[in-house]
Amino acid sequence: MRIVITGAAGFLGSHLSDRLLAEGHQVVGLDNFITGSKENIAHLLGNPNFSFFRHDVSTYIYIAGKVDAVLHFASPASPNPQSPLAYFNLPIQTMKAGALGTHNALGLAKANQARFLLASTSEIYGDPLEHPQKESYPGNVDPAGMRAVYDEAKRFAESLTLAYWRYHNVDTRIVRIFNTYGPRMDLEDGRALPNLLKQALLGQPLTVYGDGSQTRSFCFVEDLVDGIVRLLYSDEHMPVNIGNPVEMSILEFAETINRVTANPAGIEYIRDARSARDPQRRRPDITRARELLGWEPRVNLEQGIRLTIPYFKEKLGLE
Ligand code: NAD
Ligand code: UDP
Repeated sequence: MRIVITGAAGFLGSHLSDRLLAEGHQVVGLDNFITGSKENIAHLLGNPNFSFFRHDVSTYIYIAGKVDAVLHFASPASPNPQSPLAYFNLPIQTMKAGALGTHNALGLAKANQARFLLASTSEIYGDPLEHPQKESYPGNVDPAGMRAVYDEAKRFAESLTLAYWRYHNVDTRIVRIFNTYGPRMDLEDGRALPNLLKQALLGQPLTVYGDGSQTRSFCFVEDLVDGIVRLLYSDEHMPVNIGNPVEMSILEFAETINRVTANPAGIEYIRDARSARDPQRRRPDITRARELLGWEPRVNLEQGIRLTIPYFKEKLGLE
């Protein structure tokens, strides 16, 4: 297939490009580098099956030649207001990538009779009142809340994707991605793994927001990409959760990072406006992914952290 990936210079888009190229597909990457980096795709630039265009997908997308699939991953993705890369600080760009970007990417798929896959998110469940989250749970999102620019754009994107399937017969897929980590995350984007692993490798105390009792479920990037590729090859049109169902408190997560890195500096608790509004629990119910795709994650947290450390050390100039 000739596959267009929006957000190809980002964390997930670059890993997805690697995997699809390894499977013998051609990849056309699009990115405007708002949160991504040329370094993430530098190793692909000499590959004859990879081409790249700097483009903001909130504006019309033109690709010469036949396209067989469009994977829409372009969007800021970090919720941490302390980072300039977070969607809080890029609110209009985030809504445009989710709304106009999805519309343009769907239009490209429709014009080519191509398959389409949307990168949605566990954030569409908001601060969930049902636990663990099944795809049937409609969510608990405040359109005027702190995370609304991201959550509502992704909810709109899901509805638009389903509209293109139902009314235009575009062959669509929707993956709801839960917290994922690994090499090529931007060390400065403020998400939990980059913040805490960077601090641990520098021998600093880990900043745990609130009392650390809020939970998340962390998936290693290789597992996630495998689930996404299986979904792409399937014929499932309704949303599918992909994430690791092993749930833990953020305090446990931080303690695991300190243990794996042998960081003696401990934990520093930070209580601010953000921690008061943090979603309290998050764990995917992956029954549908298991049954429809035969997928489940294989890398546990400790293995995943060890696989991520060399990248972080290189970026930090350590060893
Ligand atoms: P990322 O910031 O590393 O990648 C996003 C990429 O999209 C960046 O390269 C950025 O420059 C690009 N981009 C943003 N707006 C653009 C635009 N208008 N035009 C062109 N390119 C644009 O983040 P990521 O973690 O790789 O996330 C990728 C996708 O997966 C996002 O859609 C995100 O919402 C979704 N997602 C990620 C996670 C996760 O845990 N990593 C969880 C849920 C959903
Ligand atoms: N978190 C933290 N310290 C940090 C960064 C994040 O305690 O330095 C917490 C954050 O409050 C949240 C969890 O880690 O409860 C996951 O945060 P992330 O930004 O990765 O994404 P979220 O799951 O909140 O969208």
